[in-house]
Amino acid sequence: MPTSRAFDAGGVFRACVPARAMTEPQAVLFCTFCARPQTDVGLLIAAPDGSTAICDDCVDIAADIVGSWKENRRIAAAEAREAAEWCEREADPEWQKGLHNFMNQPLDGHEAPD
Ligand SMILES: [Zn+2]
Repeated sequence: MPTSRAFDAGGVFRACVPARAMTEPQAVLFCTFCARPQTDVGLLIAAPDGSTAICDDCVDIAADIVGSWKENRRIAAAEAREAAEWCEREADPEWQKGLHNFMNQPLDGHEAPD
């Protein structure tokens, strides 16, 4: 089973670790973000050298942060596109003429401005 080869004897997921290394005894690892030991988390994902690790709860929090960041970036890009389109339209002499004519239309029952 290919995925189970990434878990060491302590149940820690290790990316790109040779199978030989996973049979060696491992020190208890801690989540680099919340500092909980691997025994107190559901899943700990560790760097191959064990220097950093992240637990499943911290991955969920990070995923929420990244999701919000991406959504905010998408909204900002849409607003920038809309502003650019407005500026482009506003610079068009034909559009300006149309706007001028619209603004100077007489209202029902009123005289047109001079
Ligand atoms: Zn954590």
